[in-house]
Amino acid sequence: MNVNAKDIVEVGKTLYDNKLVSGKAGNVSIRIKNDDSDIIAITPTLSSLGDLKEEDIVLLDLEGNNLTKGKPSSEYNLHLEIYKKRDDVNAIVHTHSPYATGFAFSSKKIKRHEGFGQIVTPFLEEIEYAKPGSMELAKSAAENIGKEDVLVLKHHGILTVADNLKEAASLAAFIEDTAKTQYIAHTLNLTEEI
Ligand SMILES: [Zn+2]
Repeated sequence: MNVNAKDIVEVGKTLYDNKLVSGKAGNVSIRIKNDDSDIIAITPTLSSLGDLKEEDIVLLDLEGNNLTKGKPSSEYNLHLEIYKKRDDVNAIVHTHSPYATGFAFSSKKIKRHEGFGQIVTPFLEEIEYAKPGSMELAKSAAENIGKEDVLVLKHHGILTVADNLKEAASLAAFIEDTAKTQYIAHTLNLTEEI
């Protein structure tokens, strides 16, 4: 468990240092599955991802029972419902990174760019707004994730899923850059005649 907690602490710091999360926003989890158990390790509530300690990481079973003493992220249901739906997912990263979230707050969709596997659909999948931390949001995400590796949560942020934590974090960074590139291209096009 210690090694896994260390991975979460390190990824949290990377996300924070790269400004993909700020303040006490964002959350990260991994799934720890073996023959006897299927549990998740998740970042705690009301903590900066830039300043976590290994003992802050909270363990939950898939029913949401707390196996440690800390309080999990308020979005723990969002993580649990996706793990229950997707057997192939072992890590989830949720951020409010500024460019991607800017799109989430607008009527514009984020285009899928080259760089992270084959482009199957032209735009990232979106789900309608539901209150952060609510079971409604968790169920909607799980119902709509399909085979996607990214979901845009309208008027909220994004989440990425992957086989492992580094991949999920790397995808979150890639999506932020994708949104930034799209924003810059759009802005340049607006000023084309000048
Ligand atoms: Zn959020």
